[in-house]
Amino acid sequence: MLKVCKFGGTSMADAAAIKKVKEIISGDESRRYIVVSAPGKRNKDDIKITDTLYKCYNDLAEKGSCKERFALIRERFLKIAADLGIKSDFKAVLDATEREIAEKKSADFTASRGEYLSARIMAEYLDFEFVDAEDIVRFDSQGRLNEDYTDDKVKTRLARIERAVIPGFYGRDSQGNIKTFSRGGSDITGSIIARGVNADIYENWTDVSGFLVCDPRIVPGAETIRQITYKELRELSYMGASVLHAEAIFPVMKVKIPINIRNTFKPDDPGTMIVPNEQYKSTNDEIITGIAGKKNFTVIFIEKSMMNSEVGFVRRVLSVIEHHGLCIEHVPSGIDTLSIVLESEQLKDGVLSDIVNEIRENVSPDYVHVIENISLIATVGHGMARRKGVAATLFTALANAGINIAMIDQGSSELNIIIGVANSDYEKCIKAIHDAFVVQNK
Ligand code: ASP
Repeated sequence: MLKVCKFGGTSMADAAAIKKVKEIISGDESRRYIVVSAPGKRNKDDIKITDTLYKCYNDLAEKGSCKERFALIRERFLKIAADLGIKSDFKAVLDATEREIAEKKSADFTASRGEYLSARIMAEYLDFEFVDAEDIVRFDSQGRLNEDYTDDKVKTRLARIERAVIPGFYGRDSQGNIKTFSRGGSDITGSIIARGVNADIYENWTDVSGFLVCDPRIVPGAETIRQITYKELRELSYMGASVLHAEAIFPVMKVKIPINIRNTFKPDDPGTMIVPNEQYKSTNDEIITGIAGKKNFTVIFIEKSMMNSEVGFVRRVLSVIEHHGLCIEHVPSGIDTLSIVLESEQLKDGVLSDIVNEIRENVSPDYVHVIENISLIATVGHGMARRKGVAATLFTALANAGINIAMIDQGSSELNIIIGVANSDYEKCIKAIHDAFVVQNK
């Protein structure tokens, strides 16, 4: 058995948390490759090391020096090192880091130092080897992960090392400069390492016991999802469930390594298992897996009789949106109708009215109608495909709650039903769906 474990910012926030991490790692011989984030918040008013580092870079760019701000980084790491009894001269490591930040003047390099320093401390504390991510994670000239190169490097480099700590979040670009993933990207590093060493499982240790069926601010006491497929998770993360970086499933998904979300502060909780379809152990009573949503969308509703017999109709509508360089979320359609759902944020400063006018010119519709302030809510579950009446249950629940549905989109995968409701009904809608499926099913 071989496990790759990634520990997030709260697990690395101070010596007390790091001691818990060590207990977790020492408790299981197979936890051999450890990926760490930079120290995160110790309490809700605290500042993440990565945020302070980005501010260091801004100070450097604006004032020519980040000495004062870097003192905060220095203080935090020195305290962690002292509290853990780190023997090596960590002050010298911090001096060198501060010098390099000033020399390189790169936002990515500066931000990456949180993970670098965190991993240096962790490697010494665990007595594992430190393997720098800059030597194994590589991006291509377009800034995307160079998967083949990286996979190969991880394999060859770690094959010779029994136990290692690797900093998350960064690698090198095609020019050899340090480049980071987007925020929260250490989750991706963990996945890359798990794939490279062909781990049996990728454990992602954080400060919650997994994904919840829905937002606990809307449904207090919402249950933890024990098992979810990669595809279901993709749908939920896309709609806003944010425990894991949305791109972190891709490296392990190809080779079917499951991800287990675990809680460093409640290590006995089993957490959420994210698995390929064929590893999902069905209990047959689950209908839906989770509910997630996002606010602030706009629906452009277009009606034209016989649009189906007009060659190029849809293309001409969509080309208007493309011409404005905007992304489309959904395109639900009927016989004589087509709706386009976009994030409202993209439609400010007259863009919306320009688009509507151009659609009128391009396809001469019978009718165009705009509905603003819409929330999209996804009800996800592969159990829906083999059940009758799921949609009926959902729509009845919403009707009983007095919620008007502005849009419906059921993907062809039968994994997901997405509905659009007024922003003001967002919370009420999630609660009604939760009660209809999760509470009624008990
Ligand atoms: N430390 C980085 C961030 O705050 C990356 C990570 O934690 O995954 O986004």
